[in-house]
Amino acid sequence: GDDADTLIKNADTALSRAKEQGRNHFQFYTNDMNATAFERLMLESRLRQALEQGELVVYYQPQVSIETGGIVGVEALVRWFHPDLGMVPPGDFIPLAEETGLIVPIGEWVLRTACRQAKRWHEMGLAPLRVAVNLSARQFQQRDLVDTVARVLDETVLPAADLELELTESVIMRDAAESVRRLRELTALGIHLAVDDFGTGYSSLGYLRTFPIRSLKIDRSFIVDIDHDPNGAAIAQAIIALASSLGLKAIAEGVETREQLEILRGYGCQEMQGYYFCRPLPADELSALLREGWRLPP
Ligand code: C2E
Ligand code: MG
Ligand code: MG
Repeated sequence: GDDADTLIKNADTALSRAKEQGRNHFQFYTNDMNATAFERLMLESRLRQALEQGELVVYYQPQVSIETGGIVGVEALVRWFHPDLGMVPPGDFIPLAEETGLIVPIGEWVLRTACRQAKRWHEMGLAPLRVAVNLSARQFQQRDLVDTVARVLDETVLPAADLELELTESVIMRDAAESVRRLRELTALGIHLAVDDFGTGYSSLGYLRTFPIRSLKIDRSFIVDIDHDPNGAAIAQAIIALASSLGLKAIAEGVETREQLEILRGYGCQEMQGYYFCRPLPADELSALLREGWRLPP
């Protein structure tokens, strides 16, 4: 910077970048940092408006039981349709929402929308579908999380047993002892819990036994090459065996081919989710699909 104001502004940008990397870091300022800081600022203010402007939409991806060949649940996945930016994938805005705290109102909105939709499907006589909602780290740390979930269930009149919350390993393991308490409060409401992206974080297998969870979702990275990569296959198989011996359900994520399905079926995996069965769809499209009677692809 050529003047004091610019220097201080740039130093501040570098400082916040260093903070993002955790403690005990230093960071020199570079020009592209400012561009991204500016972009982030733009994105943040747009994201703030997104909820109010109704730009967020919840899509639903079926979870299929391999034994019955039917849809047993759906996972709610948020989408952001910005008038100029187009569709912004959650991978691009969830981390920002998490950092800024916007994930709290957004997450509550997704939860309410998904529960209301699940209730609507029940009323339409479309099989008792369970709905799974992703919970971020920030949401899990909210003191009033349990109250919020209870209130949303109350408002939407959805039976608690039809709601599943998905948490990643790293979120649960951050403070495992405290998490156990939190998770028990949640399951006391009657809802179910799933560990998302299982196998990618670091799990204490000892704690796994004490967590009141119902299912482990095997991360897509182990499924994607399951028919070529013996290591990935071995891990998927081990997770399925682990789940089964702990009395948990294993759900395979990101199943894209018949071969993957057959391998996983051979390992004893009961539930799957992925493009092979169905992509995430807006509620009305999924309603139509459910009404027509969905069947396992050939
Ligand atoms: P996730 O919870 O692990 O969701 C699974 C992701 O895999 C989704 O991506 C889904 O569209 C994608 N997927 C499903 N089947 C296949 C497949 O066969 N092949 C491939 N290549 N991908 C598949 P999406 O919707 O982009 O969401 C990405 C992540 O964003 C989610 O990962 C979740 O961590 C987060 N996310 C999405 N919605 C929410 C939300 O409402 N709240 C929070 N906190 N996080 C959310
Ligand atoms: Mg998930
Ligand atoms: Mg996942």
